[in-house]
Amino acid sequence: MRANPADYELKSPGTLNGVLSLLAEAPGQWTPIAGGTEIMVQFGTGRMTQRQFVNIFGLPELTAISITPESIRIGAGVTYTAIRNHAEIGEALPLLAKAASWTGSLANQNRGTLGGNIVNGSPAADSPPALLVYEATVDLISVRGTRSIPYAGFHTGYKKSALAPDELVLAITILRPAAGLRQYLRKVGTRNAMAISKVALAGVATLDGETLRNPRVAIASVYHSPYRCLKTEALLADATVSPKLIAEARAALIAEIAPLDDIRSTARYRTQVSANLLEEFLLSLRSNAEESAS
Ligand SMILES: Cc1cc2nc3c(=O)[nH]c(=O)nc-3n(C[C@H](O)[C@H](O)[C@H](O)COP(=O)(O)OP(=O)(O)OC[C@H]3O[C@@H](n4cnc5c(N)ncnc54)[C@H](O)[C@@H]3O)c2cc1C
Repeated sequence: MRANPADYELKSPGTLNGVLSLLAEAPGQWTPIAGGTEIMVQFGTGRMTQRQFVNIFGLPELTAISITPESIRIGAGVTYTAIRNHAEIGEALPLLAKAASWTGSLANQNRGTLGGNIVNGSPAADSPPALLVYEATVDLISVRGTRSIPYAGFHTGYKKSALAPDELVLAITILRPAAGLRQYLRKVGTRNAMAISKVALAGVATLDGETLRNPRVAIASVYHSPYRCLKTEALLADATVSPKLIAEARAALIAEIAPLDDIRSTARYRTQVSANLLEEFLLSLRSNAEESAS
């Protein structure tokens, strides 16, 4: 049965302090709504249990993008359109800009926010693999103050997070990648546009001659939440890309992940594609090394 709007309440305090006070009065009672692109889908099904919503879309503290020589801080309420149109984000964080350009339709990108993407906690979401390999930090805010946690520790289970019921995600901060960082991201879905990923893999590394330094690999849709592949990274660290390393890395990745088996794809397909994407990432590093040596 479709939802009846009269059964729901929406408040729009219009200020960050007003929103935080409301959340603090009765933690868990009021659900923040940013772009609403996740919430309105649930609303449409009539199965949503929350009844009270507080509007946070467009709050200035949540829509700011701050650039310093060291870092880029993106407000949780920044939309995908703002991310993909931001020249410095495109230059310094191409994986995040690419993920923003893949998310849903242009209409989704005009409303959907980075904060909404991570709080929603879908294992298949597009921004998280990039945020994981960039080792992003998440700033949380409540009337009690602010705290920062690594994004890698944000998801604590399927659709569960470290966010307290009276907290908002305020911003996501990423240190500017070192010069020469090789960056890779590929999403495999049913179509090229308007498709949730079956698998998406992000990888970064620097090359010291032909030796991989600080490799980081993260994947969507292979765990209860977006997943950073620490065991595979350990195998790759300080190694040289070779057919032997690629074979070992594929095996390590397959041993490390537990792909989902759901309506979008099978675990078997996701396992194979994850290993193929990892191989593609590693081969791209080798071809880059050959280009820079020639
Ligand atoms: C047609 C369609 C296609 C889509 N395609 C994609 C896709 O390709 N890839 C993809 O990753 N996603 C996709 N999505 C999902 C969605 O657009 C994104 O997850 C989007 O980023 C959600 O942001 P939002 O601001 O709209 O979140 P909302 O719907 O407003 O909120 C989502 C959740 O986050 C919470 N929340 C939001 N902001 C905050 C905050 N600052 N602090 C605390 N809690 C907060 C809300 O309470 C809610 O629980 C699609 C959605 C639709 C409808």
